[in-house]
Amino acid sequence: MATRLKEVDAVMVGMGWTGSIMARELTKAGLNVVGLERGPDIKPAEDFAMPHIRDELRYVQRLEIIQDPAMETLSFRHRPSEQALPMRRMGSFLPGNGVGGAANHWGGQHWRYLPSDHQTRSNILNRYGAKALPEDMTVQDWAMTYDELEPYYDRFEKLCGVSGKAGNLRGQKVDGGNPFEGARQNDYPTPPVKMTESALMYAKACKELGYHPFPQPASTISQPYTNTEGLALGGCQYCGHCERAGCEANAKAGPHICVLPVLRADPKFELRVHSWVSRLTYDKAAKKVTGVVYTDTRTGEEYEQPAGMVVLSAYVFGNIGLLLHSGIGEPYDPATQKGAVGRNYCYQLSRIGLTMFFKDKNFNPFMGSPGSMMVIDDFDGDNFDHTGLGFFGGCRIQTGHGEGRPIAYRPTPPGTPRWGSAWKKAAVDNYQHALSIGMSGSNYANRNNYVDLDPTYKDQLGRPLLRLTYNFVENDYKLAEYCMSKVVEIAKVMNPTVMGSPRLRKGDYDIVPYQSTHNTGGTIMGTDPKTSVVNRYLQSWDASNLFIMGASTFPQQPAYNPTGPVGALAYWAADAIVSKYLKNPGPLVHA
Ligand SMILES: Cc1cc2nc3c(=O)[nH]c(=O)nc-3n(C[C@H](O)[C@H](O)[C@H](O)COP(=O)(O)OP(=O)(O)OC[C@H]3O[C@@H](n4cnc5c(N)ncnc54)[C@H](O)[C@@H]3O)c2cc1C
Ligand code: SF4
Repeated sequence: MATRLKEVDAVMVGMGWTGSIMARELTKAGLNVVGLERGPDIKPAEDFAMPHIRDELRYVQRLEIIQDPAMETLSFRHRPSEQALPMRRMGSFLPGNGVGGAANHWGGQHWRYLPSDHQTRSNILNRYGAKALPEDMTVQDWAMTYDELEPYYDRFEKLCGVSGKAGNLRGQKVDGGNPFEGARQNDYPTPPVKMTESALMYAKACKELGYHPFPQPASTISQPYTNTEGLALGGCQYCGHCERAGCEANAKAGPHICVLPVLRADPKFELRVHSWVSRLTYDKAAKKVTGVVYTDTRTGEEYEQPAGMVVLSAYVFGNIGLLLHSGIGEPYDPATQKGAVGRNYCYQLSRIGLTMFFKDKNFNPFMGSPGSMMVIDDFDGDNFDHTGLGFFGGCRIQTGHGEGRPIAYRPTPPGTPRWGSAWKKAAVDNYQHALSIGMSGSNYANRNNYVDLDPTYKDQLGRPLLRLTYNFVENDYKLAEYCMSKVVEIAKVMNPTVMGSPRLRKGDYDIVPYQSTHNTGGTIMGTDPKTSVVNRYLQSWDASNLFIMGASTFPQQPAYNPTGPVGALAYWAADAIVSKYLKNPGPLVHA
């Protein structure tokens, strides 16, 4: 029997970027807020200190600050006709665990989505005709336009101190920035990070071909900065150990540096760690949630925390799972296409590209940050004409050296044996000389890609595991091939000593090798409760005091990484709660 605690105004489920931003905005508005986090507390001064934070084996291979599949995992299959099997080790994606969430170990590549990404469905129909969309492509528009979200993109960038160069300032194109980006009211808070030689070589080749290279916008920031909360960030040291590890220089923006110091000091906020939320309590008739039930993972004790408002900020899988485990909303069924919870799960086409070898260059790949990249967006989103191409969406293509770590970074030319002394010699000979062009492609929703509850496997609390049914489809393969042809074109202009073979995705999606932690969908936003879970303010259609944060609200995945929009949406939803909902609690949109 759960111990019932005293009611609070609001509960955050998960304390990553979205839980921290929302908790800060609600405490500022005078609410008493409890933040529940299933993982441990993480304190950068101790946990991200030198020298242990540079331990690749501990963080990159053994995944120390990442979701523990022994505690929480999902089952996976490629198609509805298959039996799903549980994931025993995280691979393709690595959800965060502990205070700060995945931002403790993200790469900080910080984007805004294109204006056309906000209106994917209507943009395709308007530009390519009413019959252009394949029948199984269930893309939808966002519930707000780029222009509506722009001030909130700006706000999140100022929280993080993002480094970059504007390409479109209030409608004026600016040389050296991204000419395809939506109009920005302000330039980036800090100038671009330093570029590697490889990034500059790539930019030169792109320019020769008439493309438009620009520096990667980065939350691994270029210089010391004081953010909008009055908190200080350091400048990047280009340590080469960024992604999957913490930053000892306080240069990688995250909740710990950008929000939590203020929040922790606020008496209206209480943080409870090792607090694993198993379900929400729900009054279906009243269309309200009444709180959450959680287990203290150190003692096994169960608690009920009543709350006036619940914010789901538990990442994509946590958000979907808690709705399904709590009976909130109708689960999606691909056969009938009825139900919205679990619908439009999408991923990303990433870790695709081509590696070249330049025998007269020493790239020093052990230095750099994920921001030390030059990028082109000429083949992203709807920046190019798709007529006759047989696919929609696109990719960004980039190069630089960010993380030449000693265990994982072992580029070798084609024809090298995969083990033994010949492999060792090739790994040593080529470490300094390899350069990869990478691409990251959009992934548009398909009716057969979704998340539901597994009928066979259960977790340690006795709840069904989440079941992921997912595969790449023809649109993805065609998109990847088209973009790869552009990668090859650029690589030829760069004229390497040895040209590698293109790395394309062939066959079924493989959930084992890491690709990206850019999972989206499952609790998507929209204007129709039949095909969406939340309205334009990220408020549940089925419970007016439930708000759902993060990339689970994206109707599909554009080519860019998701966190810029994730942070912007947290501010957007917080603004709606404070300026509208608290004054008049109830549905903010009537369907
Ligand atoms: C290796 C890696 C690299 C990345 N690089 C980039 C990048 O370069 N650019 C980019 O834009 N994005 C990147 N991302 C993605 C980015 O980190 C996420 O988009 C972002 O951190 C999501 O924030 P969030 O608040 O939605 O979720 P999270 O940060 O995942 O926070 C959710 C929190 O909820 C907790 N939680 C989950 N379930 C429960 C429960 N039942 N009870 C209590 N607590 C729960 C989790 O432990 C976690 O702390 C990367 C991610 C990873 C893993
Ligand atoms: S690359 Fe820069 S931001 Fe990333 S961990 Fe190293 S010092 Fe920090």
